[in-house]
Amino acid sequence: MKVDILTLFPGMFDSFLGHSMMKRAAEKKAVTFAVHDLRFFTHDRHKTCDDKPFGGGPGMLMKPEPVFEAMDALFGRRKRPAAGKATGKTRVIYLTPQGERFTQKKAKEFSACKHLVFICGHYEGIDQRVVDALVTDEISIGDYVLTGGEVPVMAVIDATVRLLKGVLGCEASKEFESFSRNLLEYPQYTRPSDYRGLKVPPVLLSGNHSAIEAWRLEQARKRTAKWRPDLLKKR
Ligand code: SAM
Repeated sequence: MKVDILTLFPGMFDSFLGHSMMKRAAEKKAVTFAVHDLRFFTHDRHKTCDDKPFGGGPGMLMKPEPVFEAMDALFGRRKRPAAGKATGKTRVIYLTPQGERFTQKKAKEFSACKHLVFICGHYEGIDQRVVDALVTDEISIGDYVLTGGEVPVMAVIDATVRLLKGVLGCEASKEFESFSRNLLEYPQYTRPSDYRGLKVPPVLLSGNHSAIEAWRLEQARKRTAKWRPDLLKKR
């Protein structure tokens, strides 16, 4: 998979891409990351990427030109995916609180793609022509407003890339993680079995695998019923 990130703050990705699972995924050649500074695609002395919204209103908006030119540079003569068509193997994803809610299902869908381009918004957002002409997917990570698209982009990339084949040390862990079966994951414990009088549930020490499995399913159901009853309905 190839992942391109268009941002006004490329430095924010240094740490994210240089550690843990993203670093490992790149080392294993499961994914290639490229971070593009949108200011590189400006033509004035101040490298201006924002301007006031037409019609008035608070704050500034990201200008369309740097994003269009960055996309021209990325795709060259290659055909760009049709805007608004969230179906192909190449996606141009704009992170916005106004988008479709990001889910594990969406992460799975993105993980089957060959090329993902992420556009990070900033200020009050981006000129609508970028969305209308370039974007295949508008994605929100939740009902709250962040300062910029960088943190949401990291969340989406992380959830997606860890699903690529060979990236996780233990492939089986994907199957039992929260949301994969419309259940939150069961509680887990590690050594020591008794810490400051806090004891691990005896069934987990019993060696009885079917009893352990039954206990875990029951715990997962209880947790899901408490925090996410909507998931149980889907199950
Ligand atoms: N004025 C916009 C609105 O009311 O919808 C919010 C703009 S926000 C301050 C700046 C940028 O952060 C957005 O363009 C988007 O890229 C990103 N962002 C903020 N919250 C987000 C969320 N919940 N999900 C995805 N992206 C978000």
